[in-house]
Amino acid sequence: MKEVQTCHALETTQDIFARFSTFTKLVRVVSYILRFKVNCLASKHQKTLGPLTTAELNRTLTMLIKLSQQESFFDDIVQLTKKHQLSRKSKLIMLNRFIDESGVMRVYGRLQNSQFNENKKFPLILDAKHTLTKLIFNDAHLKLMHAGPQLLLSHIRENYWPIGGRNLAKQVVRNCVTCFKVNPYPLKPLL
Ligand SMILES: [Zn+2]
Repeated sequence: MKEVQTCHALETTQDIFARFSTFTKLVRVVSYILRFKVNCLASKHQKTLGPLTTAELNRTLTMLIKLSQQESFFDDIVQLTKKHQLSRKSKLIMLNRFIDESGVMRVYGRLQNSQFNENKKFPLILDAKHTLTKLIFNDAHLKLMHAGPQLLLSHIRENYWPIGGRNLAKQVVRNCVTCFKVNPYPLKPLL
């Protein structure tokens, strides 16, 4: 039989995540792109001008998280939408998860207090291998003045449920040049 080789082009949105070095820059640039789209469709007097609003930034964040979830858990989302059982190999099999009204996947958190915000009660699911998750961890590490892995992870868990987050938190601290300079690895003499 004749051997045939085929080539598949996979369409991913990883490009947009990899294009920016920081989480803040990613959210702000995408917010301006979305505003441009909205303004193109709006009438002359309804155009949004001036600095970005919190609502715009939140809308962008929701969109980015949805995109990252579609890339990381595509098969699981298809099964959940069809109300089918997840595969046994799924990373989400042990989680009590659901898809909210904006289409974002969340888990039922352990802390259910009416005073908590929605993200704390129902954290957003992220995969630690995704570029967006890495950007979020790096951003939090810097905002927390170069916090260690444990503090970083507990801060992230206020809003997110990162799968494989413990290793990523260690990796972020290990790869931070500032942290390395302040706390250099001691050289042990050979005995
Ligand atoms: Zn650091």
